[in-house]
Amino acid sequence: QKPQKLLATVLPQRREKSFEEVVVKLLLLGDSGVGKSCLITKFADDKFVQEHNPTIGIDFKKKEIDLDKKKVNVQMFDTAGLERFQSITISYLKSARGFLVVFDVTKRETYGNLTKWFKMFEDHDLKSEARVLVGNKSDLSGDRMVSKEEAQSLAEKYGVPYVETSCKETEAVEDLFHDLVKIILKSTIHPIP
Ligand code: GDP
Ligand code: MG
Repeated sequence: QKPQKLLATVLPQRREKSFEEVVVKLLLLGDSGVGKSCLITKFADDKFVQEHNPTIGIDFKKKEIDLDKKKVNVQMFDTAGLERFQSITISYLKSARGFLVVFDVTKRETYGNLTKWFKMFEDHDLKSEARVLVGNKSDLSGDRMVSKEEAQSLAEKYGVPYVETSCKETEAVEDLFHDLVKIILKSTIHPIP
């Protein structure tokens, strides 16, 4: 009993150190205007950005969360989704642990282009990484051009989960990031520092 008690008085400091800290890098892909930057801002700052400020090249935001008894530093790399910045996007592919492939449920074209974004994984041999298909702007139900069922079956084809989000109404945004990070923490013993 006694040594235990003594240990308890010494422990707080040590316990803090053993509280594992990990870095998880995520990359968002998808056409320009689908809401990649909004998803990141919603998750990181809990704000909805009404304007479309096209991302130039690449952008970055981070958020620290407590998950599975770990301090997780979630680093989000935001891509432009434009052809002319393709090479910058490609240069970030290898360093990311998880991927969010985003389309806009009100813009059929952004759904059609998903093949292009998924092909990127094949082209760069990134088969085993954690990824999720995201149908964003679910609040605009009157303008919907892609049904949930259709997107779900495409996600099945690619072997990834499908999640619908709304940055405007907060729907599923936090869960989306948390679930992806959880998958990554489970799948790797040592996430990339
Ligand atoms: P990105 O080019 O993929 O980064 O797109 P942005 O995040 O900049 O968003 C493009 C536009 O879509 C902006 O005007 C946003 O306000 C709008 N937007 C993004 N997400 C949503 C959403 O969930 N619902 C609605 N109604 N608008 C959204
Ligand atoms: Mg953007």
